[in-house]
Amino acid sequence: MGYITEIKCRFCNAELTHEFIDLGYQPPSNSFLSNLNEPETTYPLKAYVCDQCFLVQVPESKKASEIFKDDYVYFSSQSPSNVSHAKEFADKMCERFGLGTESKVLEIGSNDGYLLQWFKERGCDVLGFEPADGPAEEAEKKGIKSLSFFTSTAAMSHPDNADLICGINVIAHQPDINDFVKGVRIALKPDGVAVFEFPHLMRTIEGCQFDQFYAEHFSYFSLMTVSAIFIQHGLLIFDADEIPEHGGSLRIYAGHSMNRNHWLHFDCRNKMDRINSREYGMDNLNYYSGFRYKVNKIKTDLVSFLIEQKKLGKAVVGYGAPAKASTLLNYCGIRSDLLPFVVDRSPYKVGKYLPGSHISVRDEDHLKSIKPEYVLILAWNLKEEIMKQLSYIRDWNAKFVVAIPELTVTKDEVLAMGFVMKLEVI
Ligand SMILES: [Zn+2]
Repeated sequence: MGYITEIKCRFCNAELTHEFIDLGYQPPSNSFLSNLNEPETTYPLKAYVCDQCFLVQVPESKKASEIFKDDYVYFSSQSPSNVSHAKEFADKMCERFGLGTESKVLEIGSNDGYLLQWFKERGCDVLGFEPADGPAEEAEKKGIKSLSFFTSTAAMSHPDNADLICGINVIAHQPDINDFVKGVRIALKPDGVAVFEFPHLMRTIEGCQFDQFYAEHFSYFSLMTVSAIFIQHGLLIFDADEIPEHGGSLRIYAGHSMNRNHWLHFDCRNKMDRINSREYGMDNLNYYSGFRYKVNKIKTDLVSFLIEQKKLGKAVVGYGAPAKASTLLNYCGIRSDLLPFVVDRSPYKVGKYLPGSHISVRDEDHLKSIKPEYVLILAWNLKEEIMKQLSYIRDWNAKFVVAIPELTVTKDEVLAMGFVMKLEVI
């Protein structure tokens, strides 16, 4: 009998003994606060790497059902880039796999219907799984039926059913990855295709994107590891695309492994091999060991910059309040004395406070009236889009700042081209 519980890998059940990164205690990243007079719960955000299957993972300390409650404020349709990405995704899938009026499309993590609406428009029969009530109600308004959690038990009600099962940024959120992939296999037709997108661990490490880590994000995959998980459950990943979303994501395509020859006809082996060779070293613990030091440097550089600007009497405000903003600000210990507010376009976030840091979320008019010297782009994965949208800050000679992968400040004259020049850290 001991006080320290052994932690096991959620895929292969090996004991987890290698810490990858410790980001301290963090509240659920999308649980925005309406007032600051109530206590807030935080959870340890420590990731481990398994020395058997190399799945990077955060042990579950909060039940998913607690996370996706009424005040969960993430609505996919709020981001124009999300919606256009969804349309492209739907067009591509329909073309490649010949989906149309006879086809059944099942999406896991269907949110407010931002993706399924495009399949519906093409006449597909659509079904969503979405545990958060608010977004699910929005989807229903668009005529998209939404069930709650996707599990292997839920999949049993729809066996051999779907021509396409898809999930964008959903597989990483599954505390029980084995049950989830098993459910996908159950619900997929014998010749159906399952397509998932998620941040590519290789790019997360290369780009020092530690803010991809948050409490609801349990697993971080390389192609090597996700292939092993799928094959164990009878699904063969026969193709993979590297896509730019979230600082570098993978889109994987899987089918029943019993139909191996059918999938091999797609002839994507060379493409898969290229990604596998770029992942060279990811089956060795050394690959994972330097991450924490680089992350610590980002923290020191950003906090030093903010303190220096404060001393100089210059204002820095944040732009974008995605989940990654919470991780960055909480890990760095940044509060409203150094960053008085952040701006976001989502009406569900404006007027509230960021979890943990308690920095207020304001609308864009507030940015225009304050005219800060610097705008720190927290949603750095959308920085080109944001720099275009906020190009008017040049009118008062303000500059953009990005903290990841290293502290950088834009020069006005190259803004339009999206270049970012390195700042000499003071
Ligand atoms: Zn493992």
